[in-house]
Amino acid sequence: MHVLFKDVKIQYMETEVVNKNDLKKLSPVFGQLSFDNHEQVVFCNDKDTGLKAIISIHNTVMGPALGGTRMWQYKNEWEALNDVLRLSRGMTYKSAITGLNLGGGKAVIIGDAKTQKTPELMLRFGEFVHSLGGRYITAEDVGMATEDMDLVRTVTPYVTGISEEKGGAGNPSPITAYGVFMGMKAAAKHAFGTEILEDKVIYVQGIGNVGEALVENLTNEGAKVIISDINQGRLEEIRDKYNVKIYEGDNLYAEEMDIYAPCALGATINDETLPQLKAKVIAGAANNQLAEENKHGLLLQQKGIVYAPDFLINAGGIINVYAELENYGKKEIIRKTENIYNTTLEILKNAAANGITTHQAAFDIAQARIDARRLKNTKGQLN
Ligand code: NAD
Repeated sequence: MHVLFKDVKIQYMETEVVNKNDLKKLSPVFGQLSFDNHEQVVFCNDKDTGLKAIISIHNTVMGPALGGTRMWQYKNEWEALNDVLRLSRGMTYKSAITGLNLGGGKAVIIGDAKTQKTPELMLRFGEFVHSLGGRYITAEDVGMATEDMDLVRTVTPYVTGISEEKGGAGNPSPITAYGVFMGMKAAAKHAFGTEILEDKVIYVQGIGNVGEALVENLTNEGAKVIISDINQGRLEEIRDKYNVKIYEGDNLYAEEMDIYAPCALGATINDETLPQLKAKVIAGAANNQLAEENKHGLLLQQKGIVYAPDFLINAGGIINVYAELENYGKKEIIRKTENIYNTTLEILKNAAANGITTHQAAFDIAQARIDARRLKNTKGQLN
């Protein structure tokens, strides 16, 4: 049987008899294109609660691997594995570019958050997180809420994104959205010569926790916002609350717009959508927006579309949860998040000056920080 993803080609045999050498060649985990020397991948299964989760620790050179837990009804387990590998890798670079002493990790729970998320399942998941002894620290992501993290906190200290009543920094989504807003302004400054978003036509795709808060920032500034989502009820709620338009067409990518803000799931910039894109700027919250970083980063550059790297501008959430570990307050959270404007502008200029993609420019800085820390850690061990 062949399982094909957009950017990953995996083969696995279900019923066919294969010889030992073939099995080696198949290498279902370590051989995946999404596998990038991840340190540890943990498969969690609990029959009683129905929990099926994967925790992925990409890299702990800069510190413990922190990243949210996503609950999603994946088509199959390969899709879940591919997602968690990609997401955890993204966290490594997000924390490094933001200057946080954290590594990259992420978890996915396979299932429908609306119908299958129970307190028992979340507690069991928390126990699995705890069993890793702090190498992985969790937080919320798609399908999770602050209350879920409060619940997980009852079985492990290795969780962030706790409610303010319980002593945490609260829901990270508004801060994530504020960081995206800052990054978008920097990208607008680079592309249009002004960071003012008034009258700019901006499509926000996905109006969940982050998308809504972004819409609020954008409408406060007078941008012309058009929203899209797969949830019709949510669309109507946000339309009425912020007086914005709902996208009625069936191919958002081909629409004339100033800015495209992907705030749903990843890989929306791919072979199919890229040739159609008319946006001048891409700046959004979704993780892993480029289906293939190098290829699609380059195609965006060639089309003259200014792409604000996702892992750079959506770091507000991790800045917010990091406050719980480092004990800094709201003022410092806002200062660090506002700084996303300066970092983004610098990276966009750097990319243009050096003829490299914006993704590469951000990635190179993050990688250099990780390499320097690895050297320092090794020297520390030798002394
Ligand atoms: P959410 O679950 O609250 O919202 C996601 C929204 O996207 C939902 O309304 C959903 O209906 C919609 N959606 C799903 N598929 C869609 C599609 N094909 N087209 C249009 N809409 C679709 O999630 P969130 O917390 O708002 O996060 C959004 C994105 O930002 C995710 O990719 C997440 O990983 C990323 N992110 C979130 C945070 C955070 O602080 N929450 C931090 C960094 C990155």
